[in-house]
Parts: sequence; C-alpha cells; structure tokens
Amino acid sequence: MSPSQSQSSGKLYVVGIGPGSPQHLTLRAVEVLEGAHVIIGNGTYLDQIEHLITDQQVIRSGMGKEVDRARKAIELARDRRVAMVSGGDSNVYGMAGLMLEVAQHTDLDVEIEIVPGVTALSAVASLLGAPVVSDFAIISLSDLLTPWDVIEKRLEAATTSDMVIGIYNPKSRQRNTNFSRAVDIIRRNRADTVPVGIVKNALRPKGETVIVTTLGKVLDHDEEVDMSTTVIVGNSESRIWDSKIITPRGYHKKYEY
Ligand code: SAH
Repeated sequence: MSPSQSQSSGKLYVVGIGPGSPQHLTLRAVEVLEGAHVIIGNGTYLDQIEHLITDQQVIRSGMGKEVDRARKAIELARDRRVAMVSGGDSNVYGMAGLMLEVAQHTDLDVEIEIVPGVTALSAVASLLGAPVVSDFAIISLSDLLTPWDVIEKRLEAATTSDMVIGIYNPKSRQRNTNFSRAVDIIRRNRADTVPVGIVKNALRPKGETVIVTTLGKVLDHDEEVDMSTTVIVGNSESRIWDSKIITPRGYHKKYEY
C-alpha cells in the first residue's frame, strides 16, 4: 500500500529504523518501507530491515559515501517513492540533515518526509534501567566531521553542568583512544563513584551486552567498547540498584514513598 502518495508522484523519506530489531521499528517506518519503490542505505541497516523487502529496488551504499547516496536518492525521488534508511533516529547523527542540505543545494523540487525512530540512547537506557530521567547531553566522539577540541569543550560543559552524558561513536577502527581521552576529561569534574552503563548492540538480535560499572572503573572495560556501543555516564545523583542505574527525577524531594 502506498504511504499516502499516488503511484506517479515521487517523494523522499528519511526513515529512522531504530536500534536494529523489527519490534522497535515504528509503524510509520514499516508503512513507508513497505510502500517504497526504492530503498537506499548502507549494508548494516539494510540487513536490519530485510524482512520488509519484497519487490522494492534496493541500493546498497558503503559507509563514507553519504553525499553520493543523498544525491542519488533525491534524483530518484523525482518520480518514485524513495526511502533512505538511517539507523536509530534519522536526526540523531542521522541522514536527515545531509538530505535536507543536499536538497537545498539542488534545483530539484522533491517532497521530503523525515520519519523518526528509536535512538540508541533510548534503547540503551531501557536496558540499563532509568539512567536518563533527568537532563542529559548526547555527545559523539567521532572527530571525522567535528574537531576534537570542540568535542572536548562539549564534554567539559556537560560534565560541569552535571548533566547525564550519552556517548555515541565512542570508538572506531581508526580512533581507538577517543573513549579513554573522554573519560579522563569527565573524571576531572565528576566523582569516580558515579554509575556508568556500557551497552553494545542494544535491542539487536545478536551481540547485545550490558555492563554496569562506575566512572573510576570504566576503563577496565575499554576493550569491550566499540563502534556498536553507547555509554551513559550518570550525574551526581545517579545510583546503582539491582544491576540497574537510577537517576532520580526529584520526586523524593516532594513525596514520601
Ligand atoms: N542515528 C543513530 C546514531 C548513529 S551514530 C541513532 O539515533 O541511534 C552511530 C552510533 O550510535 C554508534 O557508534 C553507537 O554509539 C550508537 N548506536 C547505534 N545503534 C546502537 C545499538 N543498537 N546499541 C548501542 N549503540 C548503538
């Protein structure tokens, strides 16, 4: 069934497909992917939605080819329904931004719908208990597009303002030390007893790993942190209970329970 489009007109969808299990895809994402003529994405994400592929044309594109992929998607969307898949949420370090930027710079007048998805922070938090119930900052340690000194400043700001910190892209094959450097910066202004959750492959059918530790001990697990991992550092009020992390929202200050 077409997602509210006639057969003849084209439209581009940037679809967040969630953390990687069919159960955590939104109904809108499923509807759009099933109704697309063309689905574009990198191999990892296409594998995660394999069960939805019937007669759609599938274009696999490698990592690092994002700009080419965006141009191609816009061109195809002149007369077809094209779904560009993005892991997690399509905004959070996702393809929505680049798609809109490239669309702005082309003369092609293509309708675009951004379909949101469950981002890694939400997926990871659900497995850790309740670590992000208060204000938080998400920081990516990828310095491919953001200079490292900017990342350091943001880490410092998030730490000194006592926000819970979600760390995306903690490592890559080329950048193996970014995570330990980030931990050193956070430890300057946050106690070693603060809870830390390390979650790999959250809500994916294979390889899910959940570790609850503390800031002082987190680097004992450095080897297990990779590009499929998100790390959550609690704030000064976070605590560990029954292998879960709780960051209190503040109810205890107002109510008795
Ligand atoms: N748009 C994605 C993020 C892309 S950046 C989203 O909203 O989730 C890629 C980073 O996301 C990875 O390096 C990792 O830190 C995190 N990530 C994505 N999926 C994950 C998962 N299932 N489990 C743990 N971390 C994940």
